[in-house]
Amino acid sequence: MTRVALVTGGTRGIGAAISKALKLAGYNVAASYAGNDDAASKFKSETGIPVFKWDVASFEACGEGIRKVEVDLGPIEVLVNNAGITRDTAFHKMTLEQWSAVINTNLGSLFNMTRHVIEGMRARKFGRIVNISSINGQKGQFGQVNYSAAKAGDIGFTKALALENAKTGITVNAICPGYINTEMVQAVPKDVVEKSILPMIPVNRLGEPEEIARGVVFLASDDAGFVTGSTLTINGGQYLV
Ligand code: NDP
Repeated sequence: MTRVALVTGGTRGIGAAISKALKLAGYNVAASYAGNDDAASKFKSETGIPVFKWDVASFEACGEGIRKVEVDLGPIEVLVNNAGITRDTAFHKMTLEQWSAVINTNLGSLFNMTRHVIEGMRARKFGRIVNISSINGQKGQFGQVNYSAAKAGDIGFTKALALENAKTGITVNAICPGYINTEMVQAVPKDVVEKSILPMIPVNRLGEPEEIARGVVFLASDDAGFVTGSTLTINGGQYLV
């Protein structure tokens, strides 16, 4: 039986690697995105994975989007809450807009998405939910009070939802990536990466998006049925919890 997997923010960066890895592992994958149509259509033509556009910060838009995915592909059995943004600035300069955008996109989205799929998963007695948090939700980060709060919230959400659904065949887990080699990090000047970032990472390199994707594929698998409420850190040893 081919399981259906939905990856939010699945058209770029880490999410694109997750979408591709799930497809390779045999899932019927849908990828959502916010507004970058060029990246989404390039991703679609390269991978053959269907793409769907909606804002994960909107509860109603998530409901409508999920209904479309389920009409096209079938009931969602694997949900990867990956979509995320940053709006970095020191807290004493942070605007309400910067706070709200990050909280709604990185934390509110977990409610907005998961609430629409959880009843179906409970009825079918199977589900895999993987939430992409961050090392900065575990340790905090200068200039990221909004992001660190949202990503720490993702971990609390994961643990509580895992407990509530442990008897229903649904697992809920979080992954906390460290510095990953995506467009965001590639935009940092090379000497800053070499002099300031790499010395913080014991394995002395950035992580690759595929290394996060392999963690998702494991957590989504039937073999991972005893893994729930966990936080998988994939950070090259940068922060040990
Ligand atoms: P990217 O910026 O490369 O990609 C983000 C994806 O999320 C895009 O597909 C984007 O769509 C989508 N997205 C953003 N906002 C929304 C929204 N409101 N509604 C729907 N989709 C949205 O991100 P990364 O790959 O770098 O990060 C992926 C996840 O991993 C995030 O949750 C991030 O916080 C986390 N993370 C990343 C790290 C890193 O080093 N890169 C480290 C730790 C955690 P569109 O293309 O349309 O903009």
